[in-house]
Amino acid sequence: MTHLRELTQAHHGTGAQAELASRYQQVMMNTFGGPQRVFVRGEGVHVWDADGNRYQDMLSGLAVTALGHAHPAVLSAITSQLSTLGHVSNFFATPAQVALAERLVTTVLGAELGTAKVFFANSGTEANEAAFKATRRTGRTRIIAMEGSFHGRTAAALAITHNPKYREPFEPLPGDVTFVPYGDVDALRAAVDETTAAVVLEPIQGENGIVVPPAGYLQAARDITREHGALLWLDEVQTGMGRTGEWLGARDIDADLVTLAKGLGNGFPIGALLARGAAGDLLQPGQHGTTFGGNPVAAIAGLAVMAVIERDGLLGNVQRVGDLLAEKITGLPHVDHVRGAGLLRGVVLDSDIAAQVVAQLLERGFIANAPRPSVIRVAPPLILTPEQALVFVDALAEVLAGIERAE
Ligand SMILES: *Cc1c(COP(=O)(O)O)cnc(C)c1O
Repeated sequence: MTHLRELTQAHHGTGAQAELASRYQQVMMNTFGGPQRVFVRGEGVHVWDADGNRYQDMLSGLAVTALGHAHPAVLSAITSQLSTLGHVSNFFATPAQVALAERLVTTVLGAELGTAKVFFANSGTEANEAAFKATRRTGRTRIIAMEGSFHGRTAAALAITHNPKYREPFEPLPGDVTFVPYGDVDALRAAVDETTAAVVLEPIQGENGIVVPPAGYLQAARDITREHGALLWLDEVQTGMGRTGEWLGARDIDADLVTLAKGLGNGFPIGALLARGAAGDLLQPGQHGTTFGGNPVAAIAGLAVMAVIERDGLLGNVQRVGDLLAEKITGLPHVDHVRGAGLLRGVVLDSDIAAQVVAQLLERGFIANAPRPSVIRVAPPLILTPEQALVFVDALAEVLAGIERAE
C-alpha cells in the first residue's frame, strides 16, 4: 500500500510515469482513453510530470485553473475554511456560501441584490441539470438547443448536447428538445413559439471548436425568447468567470438562467445556476437538492478567485494577452485564422493536423488540445503574462513550420 504522504510528493523520478500509467489502465474505467502524462505538481502556469519534466499549461485543465496552479490566495482561503468548517448539510447555511451567491449576483450578473437567485452545484453538468429542471417548472416543456452544443454528460445535459456520438448510446434521453443551427437568427425565430420553455446556448461554443456567433445573435435570442415568454438560458460554464476578458462571455444580455462552473473554483469542484427575476422562483422547496453543493470550502474558493481577479486586474490582462496571442498566431504557417475572445481561442488550421500539432506541443512542454480535427484550443490561466504568451507562440511556430503542407 502506498503511503499517503508519498502520493503528494512532487518528484517520483524517471520511469515513474510509465509505472503509474499502467496502474491507471488496470484500475480506472477507460472513459477518457489512456492518460498522456501523469502530473505531480503545479505552480502558476506550469505543471510537472512524474518524471520531472516541466510543461506550460495553455489549457488550464480545460478552462478551470484561472489563477494558475497552487495560487496562494486560493490555498489559504481553502485551508482556513477547511480547518474552521468543512461541510454542513443544506438544512443550514454558511457565511461563505451566502457571500459567494451575493458576489455572483452583483459582480458577475451585474444585478441588484434581490433581483436574482443562485443554486450551487458541483460541476457544469449539474448546474445545467438544475437549469433544465427549472425550465420544466414553467408549464412548458419544449427546449430549443443548438447544433454543435455541449452542455455536459448527465441525462438532461446530454439531451441538449448535439454531438450524436455522446447522445446516441444513451437514448432515450429526456425529451422535447429541438436543435437549430447555431448563430442563425431566422432559424431560431422560426423555432420559438408559445410552447417553448427555454432556448439554451453557449455565448461561444467551446467544445465545438471555439465557435463565435455573428454579432447581434445573442441579443436577437434575448428578444425572440422575450417575445414568446420563453426563458433564455446561457451556458457560461466555459466562457464565464473572466475567460473572455469580462465576467461573462455574453455581456449586457439579461439572460434568465446562467450556468457557471469551470473557472469558478480554480479547480475546486463547484458549479452554479444564476436565475434572474421570476426564474429564480421556479424551483421550490423539495424540487431540487444536492448534498455537496454550496459547500463552504468550494464557496470560499470561488470568493478567493473573484477577489484575485479584481485585485490583480485580470480581466484587463485577459483582453491584452488574449489579443497578443491572437495577433502573433495569425499568420503562422498552416494557420487559417484565430477565433474566440480573451483567453478562449481557437486556432483554425488549414487541414486536419490539430491532433498532430497538439502531440508535438506536448513533447516540447506545452499543453493545449484539439476540440476538432482542424482546431487547436488555447485556454491558458488568466494570469498568463505577455512573455509566457510569446514563449508559447514560438513553440507553436516551430511545430507548425515542421509540418508538411497537406495535399
Ligand atoms: C465543460 C462544460 C460543461 C460540463 O461541465 P462539467 O463540469 O464537465 O460537468 C457544460 N457546458 C459547457 C459549455 C462546458 O464547456
